[in-house]
Amino acid sequence: MLHVDQALKQYFGYDSFRPGQKEIVEAVLAQQDMLVLMPTGGGKSLTYQLPALLLPGLTIVVSPLIALMQDQVSRLQANGIEATFVNSTLPYEEGARRERAAMSGQIKLLYVAPERLLKPSFLAFLEHVNKTIGLSLLAVDEAHCVSEWGHDFRPEYRQIGSVRSRFPDMPVLALTATATERVREDILVQLKLREPMVHLASFNRPNLSYEVRKKHKGSYDELVQFLRGKAGESVIIYCLSRAGVEKLSAELEQDGIDNLPYHAGLSPKVRTDHQNRFIRDDVPVLVATIAFGMGIAKPDVRAVIHYDLPKNLEGYYQESGRAGRDGQPAECIMFFSYSDRVRTQYFINQKENEQQQIIALQQLQQVFKYSESSECRRRILLSYFSEEFPEANCGNCDNCLQTAQLEDRSDDGRTFLTGVHQTRERFGLYHVVDVLRGANTQKIRDFRHNLLPIYGHGKKYSREEWFLLGQALLQEGFLAEDRHENYSTFRLNAKSVKLLKGETEFYQKMVAQPTSRQAAP
Ligand code: ADP
Ligand code: ZN
Repeated sequence: MLHVDQALKQYFGYDSFRPGQKEIVEAVLAQQDMLVLMPTGGGKSLTYQLPALLLPGLTIVVSPLIALMQDQVSRLQANGIEATFVNSTLPYEEGARRERAAMSGQIKLLYVAPERLLKPSFLAFLEHVNKTIGLSLLAVDEAHCVSEWGHDFRPEYRQIGSVRSRFPDMPVLALTATATERVREDILVQLKLREPMVHLASFNRPNLSYEVRKKHKGSYDELVQFLRGKAGESVIIYCLSRAGVEKLSAELEQDGIDNLPYHAGLSPKVRTDHQNRFIRDDVPVLVATIAFGMGIAKPDVRAVIHYDLPKNLEGYYQESGRAGRDGQPAECIMFFSYSDRVRTQYFINQKENEQQQIIALQQLQQVFKYSESSECRRRILLSYFSEEFPEANCGNCDNCLQTAQLEDRSDDGRTFLTGVHQTRERFGLYHVVDVLRGANTQKIRDFRHNLLPIYGHGKKYSREEWFLLGQALLQEGFLAEDRHENYSTFRLNAKSVKLLKGETEFYQKMVAQPTSRQAAP
């Protein structure tokens, strides 16, 4: 067999392996089941493509997106590698012809969509291949799709494990850029990996800077100013909804910022056109929903801005990670507002499936933690992937760069904790806030909380301000949270008692003041 280094050069024209690639390739060649966790752009594809070429039989690659599949296959074919795909876009005859070509050994890599994999006719085809030329490998790309905890759950992925049971001798290689502990566990179990080796690459992207900005009335002007400062460099702006994309895109256009919208409501033709014009640098700014980006490799995106709150940190990592693929400095900015938070929570509560609701709320909680914390943003992001970031200061996020301004909120903190105490530690933050503000809600009347001594003692702050203070107390460990099925209640702990007794102080990070509006040049 060709040495792997020679094969790398011969088939792909590369002089050396990227970190981790060689170990993975060698393990796969030794029939080892593997889970590979590597950030996007790390070079995962090669870790199954190269073994596929060196092993005698057929390699099956499961991939969730038809566009990705086609793209990979054309690239391989351009390198003279025998690869093809079968999916629902093909006429029946063409699919059958490709399967015959694979059976005769003319094809080394066959890409399939997961729903195809499980069709009886395809399973029969696999049986045949297994008995003749042999199945070299089953590569499962975007393997996080098996997990409800991933950002892109596909129920069909759940059944891939049954294929593994049917062909026990075929090694399985699962690949993903999602590395949370839960997803990792799910993949190992669902795909029935056998004594798997897990390859976990670092997810840190040192060239990306992270920043969270408060969203307020002046944010739009801030954004315009930022884009003017970028002067023609590529920037992606993510919004939550199609309507949000359209609105922002039109406003920016009016303000002379050349941009194009991208969302699933546009026709495929328009979408492709806008995407291509962005990639070719015809237009510097793309305003998009998260429909944009998977499998897109534009190396020189200088900033990714989340104008609305992302749904989870996983998605945030992936989307913001589209900046700076060339390794040059690039910025990741998230706009955070309380109303976005409420809106997202509202959408989640509309979900039918309770399990999914719980997952979505927990994930949202992580986004709040990221955006409200005064800790290093990089450390929080990486800890989400169970990766430790050992340095105290990353030197490239807002929290590390500007040591946060802290404000002594001990008195207000005591008021809040008193509210928690007098309502007998059995309620959520909002109810406590309503009591402090002297609200006249049904719940307050039902529990007669209008009779409490603390009732109405906190009228000087808005509901939002009190809520943020409650959150900050929680964050700093002055409150304990009890999670129930789909709500939380809060109680005092040793630290809160200390604060109440005046034995310690409570500092809250000051909300960044809106930068003053500047006149357009
Ligand atoms: P991933 O699937 O992990 O997102 P890809 O497999 O698409 O990453 O690889 C990212 C890019 O790196 C591709 O353009 C690929 O051609 C390139 N690449 C992969 N391995 C190597 C290597 N050993 N040397 C040089 N370039 C590589
Ligand atoms: Zn930092």
